[in-house]
Amino acid sequence: MTSLTIKDNLNQVIAQCAQVSIAAGRKPEDVQLIVVSKTFDAEVILPTLQDGHRVFGENKVQEAKAKWPALKEQFNDVELHLIGPLQSNKTAEAVALFDVIHTVDREKIAKTLAKEMKAQDKYPALLVQVNTGLEPQKSGLEPHEVVAFVKMCREKYNLDIKGLMCIPPADENPGPHFALLKKIAQQLEMPILSIGMSSDYRIAIELGATHVRVGSAIFGSRLIK
Ligand SMILES: *Cc1c(COP(=O)(O)O)cnc(C)c1O
Repeated sequence: MTSLTIKDNLNQVIAQCAQVSIAAGRKPEDVQLIVVSKTFDAEVILPTLQDGHRVFGENKVQEAKAKWPALKEQFNDVELHLIGPLQSNKTAEAVALFDVIHTVDREKIAKTLAKEMKAQDKYPALLVQVNTGLEPQKSGLEPHEVVAFVKMCREKYNLDIKGLMCIPPADENPGPHFALLKKIAQQLEMPILSIGMSSDYRIAIELGATHVRVGSAIFGSRLIK
């Protein structure tokens, strides 16, 4: 895809987000578009930065570490979101590189994050991933585990969990999954709801998304996952 098309796609998604927000009685500035740049090289991402976009999502720590430090030197106000699973041996690098981590999903990660954040005196915002579809191949807590897990993170590790993230099953209506996640977030008085991807970000905004994660609608389809 040419850079012109990528810019057009980005502007279209931004316009859609604003339009759907307004139609749903929400303020466009209350919905943050995360441009998901996983698998795409710096030169493909660059036009979106030159166009003024600053908020990006990556799903692998190593890949992000290979491309973002150089880009951040040129665009120092970039906000980077980790949206893929985190291994505890990558926690230090993740804390150093990311501003928001969407995928806290077990005590070992919570414990390692708490330790690393203190050691680096750097405090990315943390979200808990929920496997609303109970899919064995997906990470995330089961919905019924979330309240106790978040309380444990808060009380035992002093972690300020700011919200929840989910990826509904690909072949299901995402609406009920988003609604369930919102209900749990409200119960825990959390401000952030990270829901919605290329195929369903409009529904997600209607159902209360504060962050949508959009990749292929902007960059085209990925050759690898
Ligand atoms: C890849 C990915 C996205 C973006 O998916 P698209 O369908 O390309 O918009 C969103 N969220 C997560 C967690 C992802 O891994």
